[in-house]
Amino acid sequence: MSKKWTNWAGNQSSHPQSWIRPQNIAEIVAAVKDAIAQGRRVKVIGSGHSFTGAAVAQDVLIEMTHMTRVLAGPDENGIVELEAGMTLSAVNEYLFQHDRALENLGDIAYQTIAGAISTGTHGTGENIGGLAQQVVGLTLVDGVGNTVEIDENNPLLHFVRVGVGAVGIIAHVKIRTVPKFALHVKEKPMPLSYVLENLEDLASRNDHFEFFWIPHTKWALTKRNNRTELPLQPLPRFKKWWQKSFMENTAFGLVCQLGKLFPGLVPRLATALPGSGSTSYIDESFRVFASERRVKFVEMEYAIPQEHCRAAVEDIERVIAEKNYKVSFPVEVRFTAPDNNVLSTAHARRSAYIAVHMFKGCDYLPYFSSVAEIMAKYSGRPHWGKMHFLTHEELSALYPRWNEFLVVRDQLDPTRTFHNGYLEQVFGK
Ligand SMILES: Cc1cc2nc3c(=O)[nH]c(=O)nc-3n(C[C@H](O)[C@H](O)[C@H](O)COP(=O)(O)OP(=O)(O)OC[C@H]3O[C@@H](n4cnc5c(N)ncnc54)[C@H](O)[C@@H]3O)c2cc1C
Repeated sequence: MSKKWTNWAGNQSSHPQSWIRPQNIAEIVAAVKDAIAQGRRVKVIGSGHSFTGAAVAQDVLIEMTHMTRVLAGPDENGIVELEAGMTLSAVNEYLFQHDRALENLGDIAYQTIAGAISTGTHGTGENIGGLAQQVVGLTLVDGVGNTVEIDENNPLLHFVRVGVGAVGIIAHVKIRTVPKFALHVKEKPMPLSYVLENLEDLASRNDHFEFFWIPHTKWALTKRNNRTELPLQPLPRFKKWWQKSFMENTAFGLVCQLGKLFPGLVPRLATALPGSGSTSYIDESFRVFASERRVKFVEMEYAIPQEHCRAAVEDIERVIAEKNYKVSFPVEVRFTAPDNNVLSTAHARRSAYIAVHMFKGCDYLPYFSSVAEIMAKYSGRPHWGKMHFLTHEELSALYPRWNEFLVVRDQLDPTRTFHNGYLEQVFGK
């Protein structure tokens, strides 16, 4: 049998018939044309950090690990051109050497730049869009093997930046960067009721606000990250290891293991969850945004209009209590600006993102199904890379320009070279 591919979480896998690592655009074109000639389908993978089947390759798997160079920049406008397989952490390091940074990031930086934008990866900050919003140009290979250059003035950009891998293989990405900046981090537990009553304020008064409500408790760990000109004051090495590596990974992993073996203990263990103390430090933005994640889990995340955030979190609190779900992972809540990417989960909406998680190996289905029902009440749009149960019939009602996207997909991939089971679920045949 051919080599097995699995995603980070271990909940998606495949045995592709061939596994290709192109060095350049010509080799991507050749791979696509070869596949078409043989009647095979092609799927490009990033770092495999999606929980959905978005990156499952049924026939031909294309891995971009040999396309990880910086091609140009930063230029006088701060734009860099990157090969699509570059990881965000490599991008961060490169930009830092040039006194630049990405404007925002999600929780981790293991993803490839193309994989991250394709599923609408976002961080938090109610005035800032997701990563795709910073992309000003793309070069992709479409479903018939043509190379297509899309610049900032081309309306196609709004369709392909968040393309869920359905419209082409992105080879190069041009992305806007900002001068490097430091963040003053304030992490503090607050009563959930206080956070929910003051949501608007907390989200608008901080550059990057997020909170983690710990189920079975009345507490939320809040993170307020604000730009500062003050000198760096990073966490001392031992404290950083203790807090970010030991408590958030090793100890948290043990708590989750224990909770998996003895679910009845989860509510009591929740009170011992890491992050109960307050912390303040100042560090480079990319070192603040992205964390180490060693505890494996599955995740579902929805974007809802920000004004419904409080009600939705309260509904989740209620359903966990009513159904007696034992949840050892915090519920994470973040905020972003509206954007103009046709399939962005924040398309034309000021959004709150609500994410629920389950430790790997625990039965997530009842809890996630209940949360999905709640999200449906608030016209929630599921993250393309995180677990959800919606099909194209339901999704089409959530995106005002859905049919236009389907037309673009027909143009760029008329014979469905990039199709797989997940794309069939979300876009139909
Ligand atoms: C621990 C963890 C933390 C996370 N944190 C966040 C977070 O903070 N915020 C957030 O929004 N998301 C987060 N995610 C989700 C993650 O950012 C997305 O799922 C992202 O798509 C993963 O990128 P990847 O490089 O692993 O891509 P993959 O998962 O490998 O692929 C994702 C999609 O992109 C397509 N793709 C990949 N490369 C290309 C290419 N060159 N051209 C065209 N299509 C391509 C694939 O075909 C697939 O459809 C997290 C995931 C994990 C596991």
